[in-house]
Amino acid sequence: VFITLEGIDGTGKSTQARLLAERLRAFGRDVVLTREPGGAPGAEEIRRLLVEGEPGRWSSETETLLFTAARRDHLERVIAPGLARGAVVICDRFADSTRAYQGLAGGSGRDFVDRLHALAIGIEPDLTLILELAPDTALARASSRSDASAGPREDRFERKGADFQSRLAAAFRDIAAAAPERCHLIDANAAPDEVAARIWARVERLAGA
Ligand code: C5P
Repeated sequence: VFITLEGIDGTGKSTQARLLAERLRAFGRDVVLTREPGGAPGAEEIRRLLVEGEPGRWSSETETLLFTAARRDHLERVIAPGLARGAVVICDRFADSTRAYQGLAGGSGRDFVDRLHALAIGIEPDLTLILELAPDTALARASSRSDASAGPREDRFERKGADFQSRLAAAFRDIAAAAPERCHLIDANAAPDEVAARIWARVERLAGA
């Protein structure tokens, strides 16, 4: 079973991915908890180029190619092997992030992103949980993150500001509307345990827990 968490920066995806993994493990499930961009050594190298690079170093299309290259490596090394051995693979961001960031809100366009996805990736999650939070609340959370393991904050993407985050939020809603069986919007404006309960209600049946 392949489950992804999506949403704009600062909605609590990493926290919720971790809580979901813990809950499934408590049921005895084999769980692979991973994240993008990154998630495998080669993909993490590409992540560093993307996150630490200067704004405008690459065109949006080149950026899309790099995100997709990282995803391909992550898929080959971590996601596909996990699914093949029957694990529940939980991924903090996946292809919908590229559709939203580079495709709908950025400059690549959906056609470029979709064709590249079909060629290089080709799989969709069984379930995608899109965490929703007002962009100004989310941005405030993202820039005050205390979780050191989340890496350097205030990266060049987050600096794009509230306007970009609003366009992203709309992009995620469009993605959800186009794939209603797979994607579910989760109101993330609540305490972490409450958000986790909302997510669990969606996951329970699917994961056979
Ligand atoms: O989710 P995380 O904070 O690890 O993502 C790292 C950065 O990359 C974030 O600023 C996010 O906005 C950005 N990103 C992006 N396009 C993607 C995925 C992430 O610009 N497809």
